Amino acid sequence: MIEKNNHKIKINVDQLAFYYGETQALNDISLKIPEHEIFALIGPSGCGKSTFLRTLNRMNDLIHKTKVEGKIEIGGQDIYNPMVDVVQLRKSVGMVFQKPNPFPSSIFDNVAYGPRANGIKDRKTLSMIVEKCLRQAALWDEVKDRLDTLGTSLSGGQQQRLCIARVLAVEPDIILMDEPTSALDPLATVKIEGLITELKKGYTIVIVTHNMEQAARVSDQTAFFLNGVVVEVGTTDQLFTNPEKKETEDYITGKFG
Ligand code: ADP
Repeated sequence: MIEKNNHKIKINVDQLAFYYGETQALNDISLKIPEHEIFALIGPSGCGKSTFLRTLNRMNDLIHKTKVEGKIEIGGQDIYNPMVDVVQLRKSVGMVFQKPNPFPSSIFDNVAYGPRANGIKDRKTLSMIVEKCLRQAALWDEVKDRLDTLGTSLSGGQQQRLCIARVLAVEPDIILMDEPTSALDPLATVKIEGLITELKKGYTIVIVTHNMEQAARVSDQTAFFLNGVVVEVGTTDQLFTNPEKKETEDYITGKFG
């Protein structure tokens, strides 16, 4: 499946519905997310953005009494097929959270955690991976002389880049980001946004943000969620400058949210 800009469709969501117990949180969501693009999810609090994000790597499976209907294909594979190895899925679909959550261990060990869990023990190989991922996460120069210090001793913005390096170390194809800069100051935010833009060359990125300027700055396409449905989806330029739906216009012009 090819998109108009020639990027292949990486994630194909077809008539997705999601329930927490009896409560329906997502309804009839169909989206096509191309590879090597940044796809932003916007909408008011409680409209289902995080729930949707978590359906993409089956994180919601961890929540009791939830139910999924419809289909999500990643790289052509139905990720809710019972044969799917969920551990493997979560490696290829990594996730960065709102609050940076480094492990209480060294910077080195934070990044080496995933590769070690995958059986890599050789120190030299681990060092190479750690350096590569910290460079990719634009953190290497700031930490290369103190890899043995605690990850939690870094600034908030550095911790978030460390968490991104930790995700990169397990070689995902897709990175899900749930409001990754909402706990950061403006300078750290600029740095993470630059990093996200850089990363799209090698990854497909789906980002939830309540910051519309951020969606406008970094994303290629944007979907506007409201009450568990996608009201409008389109290129970010079009959605922000010439929205088709009145609800979208009202939201992006700050009439509610
Ligand atoms: P958003 O990310 O847009 O703020 P969420 O996906 O967090 O929205 O929430 C969508 C709806 O699902 C809300 O009504 C919320 O209360 C509900 N919800 C979210 N997480 C849970 C949960 N673990 N259990 C029950 N309901 C939940």
